[in-house]
Amino acid sequence: MNKCSPREILLAEMRGGKSLHWDIIIVGGGITGAGALREAVRRGYRALLLEQQDFSWGTSSRSSKMVHGGLRYLAAGDIKLTKHSLQERERLLREAPGLVDRIAFYFALGKGNFPGRFAMSVILTIYDFLARIRDHRYCNNRALAKHFPGVETKNLKGACYYTDAMVDDSRLVLRVLQESMAQGGQALNYCKVSKLLITDDQVSGVAVEDAEQGNSIELNAPVVINATGAWADNLRNQLNPEKRVRPLRGSHLIIPKSFCPVTDVLTSLHPQDKRGIYVYPWEGTTVIGTTDLDHDEDLDIEASISSEETQYLLDGFNALFPQTPLSRAQVISTWAGVRPVIGSEDAKDPSKERRDHATWSDNGLITVSGGKLTTFRLIALDALEAAADKLPAPAAFDADNVFSAPTIDAATLVPDNPAWGQRLLGRYGDSAETILAEASSEERRPIGDTQFCLAECRWAARHEQVQHLDDLLLRRTRLGMCLADGGSEIFAPVREICMTELGWDQQQWQSELSRYQDIWQRFYYFPDHKNNL
Ligand SMILES: Cc1cc2nc3c(=O)[nH]c(=O)nc-3n(C[C@H](O)[C@H](O)[C@H](O)COP(=O)(O)OP(=O)(O)OC[C@H]3O[C@@H](n4cnc5c(N)ncnc54)[C@H](O)[C@@H]3O)c2cc1C
Repeated sequence: MNKCSPREILLAEMRGGKSLHWDIIIVGGGITGAGALREAVRRGYRALLLEQQDFSWGTSSRSSKMVHGGLRYLAAGDIKLTKHSLQERERLLREAPGLVDRIAFYFALGKGNFPGRFAMSVILTIYDFLARIRDHRYCNNRALAKHFPGVETKNLKGACYYTDAMVDDSRLVLRVLQESMAQGGQALNYCKVSKLLITDDQVSGVAVEDAEQGNSIELNAPVVINATGAWADNLRNQLNPEKRVRPLRGSHLIIPKSFCPVTDVLTSLHPQDKRGIYVYPWEGTTVIGTTDLDHDEDLDIEASISSEETQYLLDGFNALFPQTPLSRAQVISTWAGVRPVIGSEDAKDPSKERRDHATWSDNGLITVSGGKLTTFRLIALDALEAAADKLPAPAAFDADNVFSAPTIDAATLVPDNPAWGQRLLGRYGDSAETILAEASSEERRPIGDTQFCLAECRWAARHEQVQHLDDLLLRRTRLGMCLADGGSEIFAPVREICMTELGWDQQQWQSELSRYQDIWQRFYYFPDHKNNL
């Protein structure tokens, strides 16, 4: 642990009785909390975000990684949610190229299935109209088979082409936090809020567990925003017994790109239940997702894929690509996330629940949950509006962009590979220049089929509050998910980076490695793997 890092300095101040008073305390370090911090800081508030585990450890590193309007919501008649999501999608594409990038989707039209070609064409016309673009068309089976070699077209009537966007969700959270902190916001990972403080029947702050010292720190603020996603009821139930969040799990499989080298997203209806499943490229791999079922397990234990979900995804993939049957043996890794869906009384089928967000105010606690990655900015604005009467008037600000535009362009940053330069700018803003300047040529080299490099690991270890090896390999980078065997091929250079940048000795490295391998095995591979050996 680096005692001079901004994180340790702030914690030491708090332990010493300083930095205890804030305008806004945000609980939860996923995209909702990060977005709220960004908007609070922009308005001149002294704002602090507290995350019980690592930043984006919850759902925000385990989504399907799509920045989308949600065709499904439109088909279900939810025009408002679709329109807002599409507007935010376009904004993110403009503001953060390299982090949020447009990608083509091909929606396979099953013979006899709804929606057919005509209905899809109507839906996509509205979809594009709401986004103010025109980018959809029909594609016949021959063109589809050329684009996705091996796809079974026997039961298809072609596909509809349209576009949405893809992101590294965890890096999105990090980038929003980075922007907020550059403007004076504060964010601490591994700081769990154990209790709400109440004064005169109103929430007046929070008690934070101080794991290192074994006691708790009390922090005050007139506004506490509960942005704990699927955990939102836990904190809120300290004031109001109502249960509103219906946790729904969704899981994914990652397979080598070489097994199914798709460059765009193929979506089709699963033969079993006619839910949409996706096969798509992500970070040098191919991903298959997702499922949608009630998650009744303890939320404090990371979600993991069940054998039934694995079989469901394998079956869905094999129906699309029957010539090269996929089995568990080819899977590199898996992930599962829990959607914080606002439950309704009447929806028995999880997939029928609406995906909008909701805000509640209880004795000064503003709870915001539900929603999507894509709409995080709008969710943050709603949370701040709900808190407005407890805050001083906001400072004036000119622009409402989430991300500051980099001052260097991609071709200047990496002349021989501007696309990679753009990727770094999207993820790190102007810091991309320092990352490359401080790295050896060896550490700049992309690893395996991914575009991650060791220079990013070194930067993250130095500047991004990395506390554990899993922070580095599962969230700051996704190398642990995208390389075989949890990334064992890079353990040696990563060990050197952790020792140099984080001051770990051999014993700490070994204990971090065991912790990481245990997490990877249980939550990012097959939890039942050991039993099946
Ligand atoms: C399978 C799946 C696929 C999805 N796909 C997409 C998609 O493609 N596109 C899209 O836009 N959206 C998608 N979503 C939805 C999106 O991922 C979520 O809506 C979003 O990530 C929720 O963010 P959040 O910040 O509200 O919650 P989280 O990311 O879960 O953050 C809440 C945080 O609060 C922390 N916390 C809890 N209790 C405490 C406490 N007491 N003290 C401190 N911290 C605490 C948790 O550790 C957690 O990190 C998907 C979701 C799932 C599950």
